[in-house]
Amino acid sequence: MTPLFPAPGSSLTVCGSLSLHPAPVGAAMHLAGYRALGLSFTYVPFRVARVADLEGAVRGIRALNVRGAGISMPFKQAILPLLDELDPVAARIGAVNTVVNDEGTLTGHNTDAIGSARALEEVMTIRGARVLVIGAGGAARAIAFALADRGAALTLANRDEDKARSLADETSATAAGLDAISRGPWDAIVNATSVGMGDGRTSIVPEEAIAAGQVIMDIVYKPLETELVRAATRRGARAIHGGRMLLHQAAGQFELYTGQPAPLAAMDAALADHVIKPPGSHDGRDKPSS
Ligand code: NAP
Repeated sequence: MTPLFPAPGSSLTVCGSLSLHPAPVGAAMHLAGYRALGLSFTYVPFRVARVADLEGAVRGIRALNVRGAGISMPFKQAILPLLDELDPVAARIGAVNTVVNDEGTLTGHNTDAIGSARALEEVMTIRGARVLVIGAGGAARAIAFALADRGAALTLANRDEDKARSLADETSATAAGLDAISRGPWDAIVNATSVGMGDGRTSIVPEEAIAAGQVIMDIVYKPLETELVRAATRRGARAIHGGRMLLHQAAGQFELYTGQPAPLAAMDAALADHVIKPPGSHDGRDKPSS
């Protein structure tokens, strides 16, 4: 077990998260990673009492020398003016999900971007692939920039088409309405909307629009077994559930905090203890098909 208190003469590095409603899964993944590498780190999911307390919470990170913190909604944009520096990717996305504290200098990062790319790269090559991202909210922004930077032929579809157009302009993508889902052909479809969150029974992708061999990634992770993941599995597509992006964005944070490669297997096992994986979906253990 990672010690909560350091042995005499040694120090303990504290990381954590700032959230209105802390969930145990982030702490579980990070603590498992620290344990696997024998690091003298610990992780505290800090609960911010009220939205208006964000500024005080950020002052606390600095004052208490907390090494890094995950940032949840609704703080991902509000935290921008409270930071000293922004990583270029986070600056372009305009949102921060991770803060790194280097001796009092706070830098904002966005590991949702790399997390989504790594989740897809486990099963496909992004460069040149025809990828449809559905959504134009915060998560879709991070995914769109990540995939555009990696050379995907990107189309963005959203219920509010104006939002899709504006994001497409920023990422050199093509904008579309939701009718594009059935038009294809798409090598990969990513659901970056919140449709399916909660009871997991609704899907924004009609089942008949899913083809065998296609990659279907649902970023919704509550629940992991969404109707989209079930339909993709039934149709013989490569289904990626929202846990993969969740794992890889946490791995990106881990690497920023510790400077070491994330022990993915240990972090994945901790994720699995907190969420039940859907049968037949991609779990990252098989080889990329490229
Ligand atoms: P957000 O900023 O509120 O954006 C919501 C998006 O969903 C918008 O594009 C919205 O379209 C669309 N939408 C909502 N209800 C819809 C409906 N009934 N029909 C069609 N489109 C609908 O939310 P977010 O932060 O991007 O998060 C989206 C989801 O991603 C959440 O479930 C979140 O938990 C998940 N997420 C997962 C990860 C991960 O690591 N796996 C990371 C971040 C977020 P309009 O613009 O037309 O309203």
